[in-house]
Amino acid sequence: MSIQVFGLPVSRGVAIGRAVLVASSRVDVAHYFVPVDRIDHEIGRLRGARDGVATELQSLKHELPPEAPAELAALLDVHLMLLHDEALITATKGWIRERHYNAEWALSAQLEVLARQFDEMDDPYLRERKADIEQVVERLLRELAGQAGDEAPATAAAAKAMRDVAGEDPLVLVANDVAPADMMQFKRSVFTGFVTDVGGRTSHTAIVARSMDIPAVVGAREASRLIRQDDWVVIDGDAGVVIVNPSRIVLEEYRFRQRQSELERARLDRLRHTPAVTLDGEVVELLANIEMPGDAPSALDAGAVGVGLFRSEFLFMNRGGDLPGEEEQFEAYRAAVEALQGLPVTIRTVDVGADKPLERMSQQELRHEHGLNPALGLRAIRWSLSEPGMFRQQLRAILRAGAFGKVRILVPMVAQMSEVRLIFEALARARQQLDDAGRAYGPVEVGAMIEVPAAALLVERFLRHFDFVSLGTNDLIQYTLAIDRADEAVAHLYDPWHPAVLQLIARTIACARQSGRGVSVCGEMAGDPAFTELLLAMGLRSFSMHPARIASIKQRVLRVDTRRLAAHLEEVLASDAPQAALTQLQAGSWPH
Ligand code: PEP
Ligand code: MG
Repeated sequence: MSIQVFGLPVSRGVAIGRAVLVASSRVDVAHYFVPVDRIDHEIGRLRGARDGVATELQSLKHELPPEAPAELAALLDVHLMLLHDEALITATKGWIRERHYNAEWALSAQLEVLARQFDEMDDPYLRERKADIEQVVERLLRELAGQAGDEAPATAAAAKAMRDVAGEDPLVLVANDVAPADMMQFKRSVFTGFVTDVGGRTSHTAIVARSMDIPAVVGAREASRLIRQDDWVVIDGDAGVVIVNPSRIVLEEYRFRQRQSELERARLDRLRHTPAVTLDGEVVELLANIEMPGDAPSALDAGAVGVGLFRSEFLFMNRGGDLPGEEEQFEAYRAAVEALQGLPVTIRTVDVGADKPLERMSQQELRHEHGLNPALGLRAIRWSLSEPGMFRQQLRAILRAGAFGKVRILVPMVAQMSEVRLIFEALARARQQLDDAGRAYGPVEVGAMIEVPAAALLVERFLRHFDFVSLGTNDLIQYTLAIDRADEAVAHLYDPWHPAVLQLIARTIACARQSGRGVSVCGEMAGDPAFTELLLAMGLRSFSMHPARIASIKQRVLRVDTRRLAAHLEEVLASDAPQAALTQLQAGSWPH
């Protein structure tokens, strides 16, 4: 039976594929296809892991002290039994042999199937046995981590090539939640789209989906319960709809739309190296947002004229507390700077906290762990200033990368003048430390992100100290409207068109221009063509976005005469419904 699940459209396009359900806790498992001639080897890895865990459980059992409760030995027996259960190991082998999944993926796929069967049991005692299976699989995965497997593909394109060779259907990921840290792994995964139960339009999961340019729907609440392993799924990333087991006619319709959007992409691709200049001759800078140095080539390919936002926090995530040192960071920043071949790279100092925890956590765990309200807590520059040694270390690494090209430092979430003083003191000390150590470093410009209303209202004062500002509209909307950007329950109120948001943006751009300082937008609004003309009319000439968005925005820029809307800007800003006012103006006074 075909069903539809509704969520938030966060990354455009249509994906059609078989569902791979992944438990949130297992999203970090590598997903790749094993070449046919390596299948036996992969099954051997699974067998080896099973034998390893069996030995471990046996010895645990033998070492139990006499006073240990009898239940403990019984539990170990249950785990040993599960380890040899057909439903687990034989079925997992089936995923490897028939579907060519790597052992870790095969195990987590089978775990998902079994977990559902347990969830549907009426007997509460049996239902609780799910935890035993999970523990056994956890042990097996740990054991597998210690055994050399085939290399997972290094890029999404390589993963896709492996899938094509294996003759497999396209796959889409369905999960309750995907932590930002785990999203990085998807950049190299086989999935062509994804659906999550939780998340908002500018949650980091959604942002990474857009950066990968794969269709995605988040906040689909019940999706991971309603969709079953291997179901055929259509993800309509434009409408925010997921169609499970579509009828033949619906499938045909979506295949048609898929082909249309591929053609559209190919057409836009031709604009890659066209300069972004408006009809009235205004030159517009289109920059890229990246998460890792490895993203830099795709920024250049997309025609970006620099990096406007390098989210450095992704270097810090999922490392079990072992944060990257100065050398490691320096190498990463230098790699990005060199890849950009003389074009500017704006490196944002670490922005962890709120919905970007250092370690993998689901939204629920995050809220539970951090209690209160992490979005209003120790995040971004607040965290950096609370760890001055770590902050200076990052500043030194960035300054050193500045010796290899044009580098700019961007500080997230500045809100207080006292923070400004501390930031520049830390910079002066970092430079002094490099001088003392005789290390080369380059001149860098320093900018502040305008992400909280307080900063937007006092931007003139910030601009006395900073060389430029960059509007982080994702957070600016969140903090202006008091809407958690990652919470699907209030996603309908997360409104970039809200007059208060637009006024703060307009004032920031105007103040920066008046003071002769640079101003950019690096939040998701920069990559949304619905806002291009409005932002241009406000005076913005620098936009930073996912590389995949650059061509669409360029197309929009090429068709705009900035003088047209500038003459009506006040009207739009004064309106209670700015979006409607803008649409009316665009439709009436200047037909395209
Ligand atoms: C923003 O808040 O708009 C921004 C660009 O930063 P991030 O999305 O990483 O919080
Ligand atoms: Mg932000």
